[in-house]
Amino acid sequence: MQNLVIYNTLHRQKERFQPIAPPHVGMYVCGPTVYGDPHLGHARPSITFDILFRYLQHIGYKVRYVRNITDVGHLEHDADEGDDKIEKKARLEQLEPMEIAQFYTNRYHDAMRALNVLPPSIEPHATGHIIEQEELVKEIMANGYAYESNGSIYFDVTKYDKDHRYGVLSGRNLTDMINNSRELSGVGEKRNQTDFALWKRAMPEHIMRWPSPWSDGFPGWHCECTAMGRKYLGKHFDIHGGGMDLIFPHHECEIAQAVASQGDEMVKYWMHNNMITINGQKMGKSLNNFITLEQFFTGSHETLQQAYSPMTIRFFILSAHYRGTVDFSNEALQAAQKGYERLMNAIEDLKRIQTAKASDESTKKFVAALRRKCYDAMNDDLTTPAVISNLFEACHIVNLLIDHKAQISEEDLKKLGETMHLFAFDILGLVDERSANNDAREAAYGKVVDMVLDLRAKAKANKDWAVSDQIRDALAEAGFQVKDTKDGVTWKLDK
Ligand code: ZN
Repeated sequence: MQNLVIYNTLHRQKERFQPIAPPHVGMYVCGPTVYGDPHLGHARPSITFDILFRYLQHIGYKVRYVRNITDVGHLEHDADEGDDKIEKKARLEQLEPMEIAQFYTNRYHDAMRALNVLPPSIEPHATGHIIEQEELVKEIMANGYAYESNGSIYFDVTKYDKDHRYGVLSGRNLTDMINNSRELSGVGEKRNQTDFALWKRAMPEHIMRWPSPWSDGFPGWHCECTAMGRKYLGKHFDIHGGGMDLIFPHHECEIAQAVASQGDEMVKYWMHNNMITINGQKMGKSLNNFITLEQFFTGSHETLQQAYSPMTIRFFILSAHYRGTVDFSNEALQAAQKGYERLMNAIEDLKRIQTAKASDESTKKFVAALRRKCYDAMNDDLTTPAVISNLFEACHIVNLLIDHKAQISEEDLKKLGETMHLFAFDILGLVDERSANNDAREAAYGKVVDMVLDLRAKAKANKDWAVSDQIRDALAEAGFQVKDTKDGVTWKLDK
């Protein structure tokens, strides 16, 4: 098995990956809140943890990958104030909230498929786990870390911080949080500003509500991941991931909920991908740089000079390390498109290379080292840019071989091809979009030829030999071989 090292946000250091119960690995990643079209911000965590999911399986682990769908409880301003985004949209558009959640869940799945992100093993919905979330709240209350106020339940951060420490993941401390809090008054139902909601009593206009011992209401956002992670992965599991923007408050609150309910932390390795900027700015609706994935795929947003295919987006995201920032610009995406095409062309060119009796010295050395170098890059906290640069070096060797400026043995060519395929397709999860396009084109040709042959059959039935022969000759000229057999007409394209 490979010696994988990953960066654990909890300890702010790289650590050797040692699962709790090998070969099984439990992995939980915070999924989308399904109230809007999937955008670039969804692409990065899903691709980052897709790489981890693929790689863990490749190196021999049995991975249970849970990625949730947030369809209730994630509120607009913070976890305690404001409207539920799905509810708000439902009211505005006079839809059932579940219609909205389902619509955007489908849109999210479509985008993930286009990006060749593998589906998780389990995709639980928050609304399907209200009972588990209520049980979690009850446990936290029983241990004295939550209180009821006006039918809502709040987590007592101050009490928790005395017994444990609040802020272990984000490195914040409670005194600073209280001092930095802008709101001097108006804690409302809460004892302290830093307390967060575990259960909220529903206002009369709320559509999404469930009965509970405290009130008809809905769970606080942070509850779902703790409750569903524990349900599907157990009280202790290996990896919890998500975007860096979730470290505080979401993941910090998850840790507090786990410790307050079961007495210790659930997660061994916390992993976070960095954020995406567009032309150097944070993505936001007010900045007019909020670009959905579909707008990228079709080029329909005004800041885009062209359409960028799903594989260009995937390749671009993988060209940076997941803990580094990524800035989207037309120039950077066009460079990624060229890089992606260069790699796909080289892999296609492997078929045209003529082998020699033996490899020349430098080719032999390169092929012998390539696989190890790619593994070393992946094992060092998933350094995909280094994998890509090794693959680019391989592209250079392929070009030399095509131009007869280097020599390769049959055995080395096989090795080179296998390594390039393994890392480009299986591990980085790229697909050759051009071959998908070619397949579509051939399918379209097929339909046209079938239609033309149908016309020819009709001409023959009418004994219109001139038209029948004309069609056969025209097809032959276009490169289609038509044969009349006992069982009917067959055709193939001469290449
Ligand atoms: Zn979460």
